[in-house]
Amino acid sequence: MNTHGVGIETLQLALGITDPWVIEGVDFNAEKKRFDIYLNFPKGTKFTCPSCGTHHCNIHDTRDKEWRHLDIFQYPTYLHVRVPRIECGQCKGIIQVNVPWAREYSSFTLLFESMVILMTQDMQVSHVAKRVNENDTRIWRIIKHYIKKALQKLDFSSITTFCVDETSERKGHKYITIFANKVTGYVLYVCKGKDASTVGNFFTELLSHHGNPSKITQACCDMSPAFISGITEYFVNAHIIFDKFHVMQLVNKAVDEVRRIDQVKNVLLKKTRYIWLKNPENLTEKQTQLLASLRTMELKTARAYQMKLNLQHFWSIPDRETAEVYLNKWYFWLTHSKLDPMINVAKTIKKHWDGILNYIDFKITNGLMEGLNSIVQTLKRSARGYRNTDNFILMIYLRCSHLKFDLPT
Ligand SMILES: [Zn+2]
Repeated sequence: MNTHGVGIETLQLALGITDPWVIEGVDFNAEKKRFDIYLNFPKGTKFTCPSCGTHHCNIHDTRDKEWRHLDIFQYPTYLHVRVPRIECGQCKGIIQVNVPWAREYSSFTLLFESMVILMTQDMQVSHVAKRVNENDTRIWRIIKHYIKKALQKLDFSSITTFCVDETSERKGHKYITIFANKVTGYVLYVCKGKDASTVGNFFTELLSHHGNPSKITQACCDMSPAFISGITEYFVNAHIIFDKFHVMQLVNKAVDEVRRIDQVKNVLLKKTRYIWLKNPENLTEKQTQLLASLRTMELKTARAYQMKLNLQHFWSIPDRETAEVYLNKWYFWLTHSKLDPMINVAKTIKKHWDGILNYIDFKITNGLMEGLNSIVQTLKRSARGYRNTDNFILMIYLRCSHLKFDLPT
């Protein structure tokens, strides 16, 4: 055995090249810093038709092709092959044969693609592209292929509860809507837009993954009319549960509007916005004291603030009947408060009555979406990591879905 040099056979073994393929030559170009490996097949080899499986087809002609493979040492390595096109008697045509090391239409070997997918698990795509010295458009093409394939395998048959929320790719434009499984926390579906049709798209997606829309009994969302009408139309058995954080956000906004009206007459209220917004337990000692003294004054803001605190209590009421009595009283109080922002928010809550009370029965929130949103925000900050909304969506799937990739090892 030759222990001083690596023979072609050894390289062939290492590359995993099998019959009828053989390495014909290896070239290292120090100037261009690349390895080129030339593969061939013995004269007279017959191939199997990739379309119908007929064996021993004659070669019609060949086409030169090149694939980027895993590096040898630190050098980019390329496989070169004249790929046969066969004459198939069965298919009555000329067909290019499949090669075992790459998928059709790809100019990378399966092992190279596998490495890229593994790298993208925790690296920005632009960094991966840089690392392997490829154009990132070509890297995105690989990612797209494998994500699409992995998504096809997702099984939605056991889904009964989902959360939905919208987010924008960049501030103020290009909205996307994310649907997630409330139970597992994984993203199920992402699409462009934020109107009711996004729910229709999710419905279709659910069906194509063995899901059953009539098995969906709970859907959590904010009070956007688009989601409400979409869920009502497509998921007839679903109870809509309005996210309590969104509801509290509206009430907080109303309290702040009251404060702004109030502060025109009372300068003490200036710069106190956060004191009224925060939960009392989150205030510093100084803020707590200030809040206490402000609350002793005859301020509209202090009244509005008390209304907010009272609604906060509502969420912890254990049974629906008691909760509804409580909410009714709260509603009456606000609508008779003569504080316009509070009257308006009370009316909004009246309009969404059942979905708000449903929280008491199901106790679910969109907290999951907040978690997902923070991952999405991180993706947004790395905006250079993707080029368009489609890639942005791929990234969300990559980071937030439960995908199993079919990767060669
Ligand atoms: Zn054939």
